[in-house]
Amino acid sequence: MARPVVHWCDDCQLRIDDVADGLVAREELFNGRVILRVVHRPEVCPRWRHKLAHGQGYENLPRRVAGRDSFPLREFLGPFGMLRVLASIAAEDYPEREGMELLKRLQVPDYLAFSNAVDEAVREGVLGPEADPLHPTLWELRTVLEWRAGLARADEEFLDVFEPPTVAKRKKPDKGGGDDE
Ligand SMILES: [Zn+2]
Repeated sequence: MARPVVHWCDDCQLRIDDVADGLVAREELFNGRVILRVVHRPEVCPRWRHKLAHGQGYENLPRRVAGRDSFPLREFLGPFGMLRVLASIAAEDYPEREGMELLKRLQVPDYLAFSNAVDEAVREGVLGPEADPLHPTLWELRTVLEWRAGLARADEEFLDVFEPPTVAKRKKPDKGGGDDE
């Protein structure tokens, strides 16, 4: 059986453990560009929930977060979810490229990890110049993921050898941006 797709929140970068806590958000930028995000519901997202504490409404959230259209993640999963995204692309509610990226992210295990690593993989020559990073073959997907996993292992081994055992393992760099408001 295929590995399950793991969903990650674009707002806090953490894993969405319960599908019921996930949303697909359609955000329209000031220049009219539409972007699609997979996020936690603000009430449970570590990045926003403190702004909703003590019965406060959405007025404390950044406007782009409070004002975006969002729908339950579960409605975008499986074959029916795929049909929904395709229909939104056909109706031009979703830009084609954004919509196709969303589809791959929701349907293909580890696609997000692949897409985060692929530019570097191309620069490093892991994939040849003929590869199209937007439309990978299964072989290209696996090659990039295995390369990435090998680097992560090498990193761990380096830390094991060179860090004194009393020092806590180095934390991963915080990816959260400072663009909240
Ligand atoms: Zn989150």
